[in-house]
Amino acid sequence: MGRIWSYNPGLECAEPEIVEMETDILLVGGGMACCGAAVEAVRWAKPAGLKIVLCDKAALERSGAVAMGLSAINTYIGENKPDDYVRMVRCDLMGIIREDLSFDVGRHVDDTVHCFEDWGLPIWKTTDDGKTIDGAEAKAKGLTLRGGAKPVRSGRWQIMINGESYKVIVAEAAKNAMDQMGENGVILERVFIVRPLMDANEPNRCCGGVGFSVRENKVYIIKANATLVATGGAVNIFRPRSVGEGQGRAWYPVWNPGSGYAMFAMSGAKLVLMENRFVPARFKDGYGPVGAWFLLFKARATNAFDEDYIAKHKDELKKFAPYSEASVVGTCLRNHAMLIEMKEGRGPIFMHTEWALQESMKNMDKKEFKKLEAEAWEDFLDMCVTQAGLWACLNIEPEKVPSEIMPTEPYFLGSHAGCAGAWCCGPDEDWVPEEYRKAWDDVGRYNRMTTVKGMFAAGDTVGACGHKFSSGSHVEGRIAAKAMIKFCLDNKDFKPTPKENPEELKKEIYGPWYRFQEFKNATTVYEINPNYLLPRQIQLRLMKIMDEYVAGIATYYQTNKIMLERGLELLTMLKEDMQKAAARDLHELMRAWENIHRVWTAELHLRHVLFREETRYPGYYYRADFPELDDQNWRCFTLSRWNPETGEWEMEKFPYIQIIPDPL
Ligand code: FAD
Repeated sequence: MGRIWSYNPGLECAEPEIVEMETDILLVGGGMACCGAAVEAVRWAKPAGLKIVLCDKAALERSGAVAMGLSAINTYIGENKPDDYVRMVRCDLMGIIREDLSFDVGRHVDDTVHCFEDWGLPIWKTTDDGKTIDGAEAKAKGLTLRGGAKPVRSGRWQIMINGESYKVIVAEAAKNAMDQMGENGVILERVFIVRPLMDANEPNRCCGGVGFSVRENKVYIIKANATLVATGGAVNIFRPRSVGEGQGRAWYPVWNPGSGYAMFAMSGAKLVLMENRFVPARFKDGYGPVGAWFLLFKARATNAFDEDYIAKHKDELKKFAPYSEASVVGTCLRNHAMLIEMKEGRGPIFMHTEWALQESMKNMDKKEFKKLEAEAWEDFLDMCVTQAGLWACLNIEPEKVPSEIMPTEPYFLGSHAGCAGAWCCGPDEDWVPEEYRKAWDDVGRYNRMTTVKGMFAAGDTVGACGHKFSSGSHVEGRIAAKAMIKFCLDNKDFKPTPKENPEELKKEIYGPWYRFQEFKNATTVYEINPNYLLPRQIQLRLMKIMDEYVAGIATYYQTNKIMLERGLELLTMLKEDMQKAAARDLHELMRAWENIHRVWTAELHLRHVLFREETRYPGYYYRADFPELDDQNWRCFTLSRWNPETGEWEMEKFPYIQIIPDPL
């Protein structure tokens, strides 16, 4: 949330310089998906003489959700089949996914993981005699996945890595690739893209993006033939559990405010399953990962009275069959069982790290045990150093005491255990149902293109295709990039012509700062002024509305039609007031625009939750007026579109088509 209690001025705003650029390919974002896109795009763009611009609001080495590092790659097919991967994704996301998109990720993802290893990422290995060796040792011994070595699996789809520098390695590969482009490759770091540019001559045609530097007073107008919007998911739309100065900490990285979802909506692209959200159950307050604890260290979670709450609510979970009958109970359903316990007063929920470690101790010598204990800490140090800090400062010795776990506030994402995002074209191949393919006939069948011509998505911004994780997002960026190259070659005579002129764009982008300049002297203190709202004021109001009316933590994730309609009224008033957003410096200018993206994302979510009259994702949210799963009427995609001509929202159902046969 940035500065909370007092105002320390950030970098000053001044009249901005306008920088105009033109490129064939614009990559917006610098996370896993865009790094993948850069590597792949360069391969084809260079011989074709095409230009690429990559633009990240932060610095590539530590931007996006992988900034702190990771301790596992969650999607590696290996000895499994892509069909089974699709089945797992379908089941975890309660029966509705685009199986063409998921299969496409599954069939290509391993190549991306092999590239990570080629670029220097240490991946743990299992030796022929069944021993586990960590990535550094495996690397020293020259054991590689390409060479046939076996990875260490922490679950069926996950492999363990020494991943503190995961993002640095992936970013370096992207930068090296871009270097090969010479003048035809430009990386802009710390440039925040505010919105897409739409073409003046062709309706429903994206022709680039416009934004500003968060370090210098410059507005960037980047005209492009094909634009990839891969800006990750969204956080801080709901009131977080953290309070006060801790509000800068959430499970999801605080710098992704839903820019992609907002940009798709404002350009008139269709979004899918925006009712879906992710509510991870994580170590309380530190948000440390639980996956390795459950899967690798075989820890168990119980209610306050040592009861296994999943087993206890087996009959309740049966209501959500067949999705509750998989060998691994789906993520939202596990939350559902946990929430029943919490609501009925049997919290806190504990992860019994001490049982797991003491159990392991029985079969290990002291040295082996010390190694395991170090790995348990490393799980946090690799990917969530804040959790290690919290354990240390709370005197928690995981081999002696359990730790609390807790469901967080809701987030939006399309690559983890969630599936909100843009409605995208898949591969144009015979096995893909014609219904999916012909939906793109008016703009062209290009893989991962949205329903707006020239505007693509990857990673968290692609809807109905969850469980890609870091590797799947990277490979999806590569898939999108390849399609973008084809798109550019097929549309090489296109001359991007933004609807607005540079002066108009500058006025719009720096609008919040101009407003502050105009009105700042109307009162004696900047925070209280009848002419404007500062970013923090807008954000707090948004969070309160979403928390109280749209199934936040305040209501144990429950809502109903009347609550949603009231929430929409309040959100509409907030949108009116937000026309008067003000910013005192460059930092607040970024915050002002992040809020605009958050409010678009919030409205998308609210309208989707209102539209879907059933409870599809118990444990993520409940429609208390429709508490049951209704496969007969609602096993379908929900699509939304904001019509830029009329300003009206259009909602529709689109049939779900099963491609990979049962079992789930
Ligand atoms: P990100 O990697 O988040 O990248 C988004 C990028 O967009 C960032 O560079 C950001 O700076 C930029 N951006 C945002 N808005 C703008 C804007 N307006 N203008 C310009 N740039 C912008 N996966 C695993 O495989 N294993 C794990 O253990 C694992 N753990 C995870 C733990 C957490 C807490 C989270 C959040 C995710 C985890 N994942 C894990 C999933 C993985 O991190 C994501 O799947 C992946 O990062 C998604 O890639 P992306 O490119 O879509 O988004």
